[in-house]
This record gives sequence, C-alpha cells and structure tokens, in this order.
Amino acid sequence: MPSFKKFLSGGVIAAFLGLLVNRVYPAAEPPVARARPVSSLLGSVDPVTLTGITPSFPRIPLPLQPPVLGGVDLTQDTIRDWLSDRSPEIFLTFDDGPSPKATALILDILQAHDVKATFFVLGRNAAMWPELIERIVAEGHELALHSYSHANLTTLSWEQKKQEIADGLALLHWQLPNLRIRWFRPPYGSYDQAVVDLAHAHGMCIAMFNEISINSDSAVAEIVQTVVTGQGRIIVLHDGQWPRPASLTAAEQRLLHGLAASIGVAKAQGAEFKTLSSHFGNLCP
Ligand SMILES: [Zn+2]
Repeated sequence: MPSFKKFLSGGVIAAFLGLLVNRVYPAAEPPVARARPVSSLLGSVDPVTLTGITPSFPRIPLPLQPPVLGGVDLTQDTIRDWLSDRSPEIFLTFDDGPSPKATALILDILQAHDVKATFFVLGRNAAMWPELIERIVAEGHELALHSYSHANLTTLSWEQKKQEIADGLALLHWQLPNLRIRWFRPPYGSYDQAVVDLAHAHGMCIAMFNEISINSDSAVAEIVQTVVTGQGRIIVLHDGQWPRPASLTAAEQRLLHGLAASIGVAKAQGAEFKTLSSHFGNLCP
C-alpha cells in the first residue's frame, strides 16, 4: 500500500499548506464543495473489513480553524432554551457515517423531499468515501465531526483526545479546506471539560440532541413516529457502522423505509427540516 506521504507530491503539499494559511471561513453558509480526490489516499484497503487502514494523513498543526471564543455548546439546556414543542423545526442528524450504501440512499431520500440534515461523520469513514463527503456538502447539508475513530473520549488521555478530534478534522479539511466545521458530537454522547476545550480550540462547539430514540433496534414504525412527531427535536439517526458490512444492514433498511415514509408526512404537517447551523449557528460564531 503506498504511504500517504508518497502519495502527496511536493506540489500538492505546498498547495495544501497555502490553502491552510489563506483560508477564509464564511459566517453561515458552507461554500460550494471543492472536494479533493482522495480515493487513492488509502491504497489497497479492504472496503469491507477496512483492514490496512492507517491514519497516515498529514497532521495539521493548530489552529485548524480559528478557536471558538465565547461560543455556546449545544447541550440539553441550550436546546431547551432555543427550541420548544411548538417549534416547527426538525433537525435530522446522522452519526457514524458516511457509509457507501446507507448514506447514498439517505441522501437520495432527503433530495427527493428537498430537506436538509446534518451529518456527523467519522474521519476514518470520510477517508474511505470522500465522494459521499463531497455529495453531503454539495447538496446543501451540513458536515460536522464525530471524531476520527468513534472512541469513547472520556476514557482517553488528553493527547489521545486531541488526536481523535484533530485527526478527524484534518481529514475533512484535507478534502474541503475552506469548509467551516462548526459542530463536534462526541461518540456515545460522552465528554468532559477537556473534550469541550479541545473542540473549542479546533473551532467547534459541542452539539448534543434532545431525541435519541433511533438506534439499530428501532422498528420502522418507531422511526416514522419519531420523525412525524419530531418538531422541536434534534433527532439522532445512524448511517454508519464499523467495521463496514458489505451490504445494507437490516437496521439501515428499516431506517431508509422509516425516513421515506415519514418526511413527507411531517412536511405536510408544517415541519421544517433544517441543518443545525441554520438555526443554532449564532451560538458558535
Ligand atoms: Zn456515534
């Protein structure tokens, strides 16, 4: 497998560093995707088991993004202040992806209904499926970070926490250097003050949720019920799994059926599907 260092020619490195120095972060709307072709980044990794993957991408020094100064994290309390049961907004958030089949089909469903969502991706999955990262952004959804490898951050040393956050962000920025990544959702919803501080140092605020009833055991009816009654809710769904099975899992099939059956009904009832930053962006300037 060719190493990443080998893959990067000197010119690419120079361009990359130049973009880092000259980056500009728009306040609200993400810029048009300028995705980099990183398909060959990981060489001969087995796409099913992902054996052979190594985080041998460039380590980008701080600051990856300007640090968040005076930002407000999207915790249960903040969400309660900013959303009520009468709020028409529904925030669909997808964790753990992207994954080749489920994410692509979810994007198809969202596109068919003209609704936007927020994708909390893992750095290692982003490296495997850069075309899906590109598609998420190009179709107007928000790209957010869920760490590099889905480790439980509170069990790690400060240095390891920093690596999970910095490496995940570095992979997204390597592909989309000018895209502001505003939100970080810690795996398992598990975080401490060090994780908060590291997220802020990397230009992100913590983004939690107020509805997490959808997991791999959820039935189609439960998914439909959650979305149809989801106004005023940040809903957590999952479009990824590790290691990656070759075909759609039963849970993913239920999720796809549930989404296809519920989004249109919710919209007909007045629901507005939004990205996190379109509603909460001011909290994390
Ligand atoms: Zn997760």
